[in-house]
Amino acid sequence: MDQSILTLGGTSWINLVNTTYISNKQKIDILADASGALQWLKENHLLRESDLAALEKKEVLDSLLVELESIRTLCSTILSEIEQGEEHSLHTTNKLKKIAESLQVSLAIHSESEKLKMTVEGATVEDHVMYHIIDSIMTTFENTSPGRIRKCNHEECKLYFVDTSKGGKRRWCSMELCGNRKKAAEFYSKKKKK
Ligand SMILES: [Zn+2]
Repeated sequence: MDQSILTLGGTSWINLVNTTYISNKQKIDILADASGALQWLKENHLLRESDLAALEKKEVLDSLLVELESIRTLCSTILSEIEQGEEHSLHTTNKLKKIAESLQVSLAIHSESEKLKMTVEGATVEDHVMYHIIDSIMTTFENTSPGRIRKCNHEECKLYFVDTSKGGKRRWCSMELCGNRKKAAEFYSKKKKK
């Protein structure tokens, strides 16, 4: 698996939607196997040391995966709503509220290299991961205009990303995955026409 695909969306809730993608005309689901799912969670900095230990129990991991798949569906609905120009319907807002209300979290103060830092800690792995995904959704809504949340321009690609470029003209999920193959195709089709 190409590592960059785990984080190219720029924020964990979009990276979560990007865990299903098309590669060589085949549908891939990173969450479908435990090692892919764990790698995705680690790369997105969603796990604490204690979570890693807890996830060694199969039932804890299975239960987390069920929750992740369910919130992935919600995240992908949110993205299609943005694409259609209607920002978060009552339906998605209510679902977000319901998840937020169900989470058990507390605050903790840490000292890191002589600086104090406050973090939100989930009571369980599930609470922790779900909190951070909800938090990433809310942070995107607060800081990003909907026009900056886009799908890759390549017709065979269904990856999403937050465009944080200065000019706001990013077209591809990544240059390596799609930009170059599209440019190569355009180059050859021009060459043929000549
Ligand atoms: Zn792409």
